[in-house]
Amino acid sequence: MPEMCPRCGLPKEICVCEILDREATKRIKIYKAKAKFSKFVTIVEGLAGDELDKTTVALKNKLACGGTHKKGVIELQGEHIAEAKKELVNLGFPEGSIDAAS
Ligand SMILES: [Zn+2]
Repeated sequence: MPEMCPRCGLPKEICVCEILDREATKRIKIYKAKAKFSKFVTIVEGLAGDELDKTTVALKNKLACGGTHKKGVIELQGEHIAEAKKELVNLGFPEGSIDAAS
């Protein structure tokens, strides 16, 4: 008899509860930072891998702004904190895991 997960009832080898837990505790931070020529950029931290690429493209399209990502941090031209948060929620990130500085 394989060991069963008490939460989903599946054998432990195929259960994904721990992975989901890890995803759920991932925090995303959004804040603005000063850029050159007294302009601002909006920084989105906390994404990785594929997600980072896709999310950067989606945010740039939705917010109609320039942007890039480097070393795991998305940098969007301009101040878009509230809009970026809204779009991340639309993309499926749990609202409770997003810390948006106002
Ligand atoms: Zn499970």
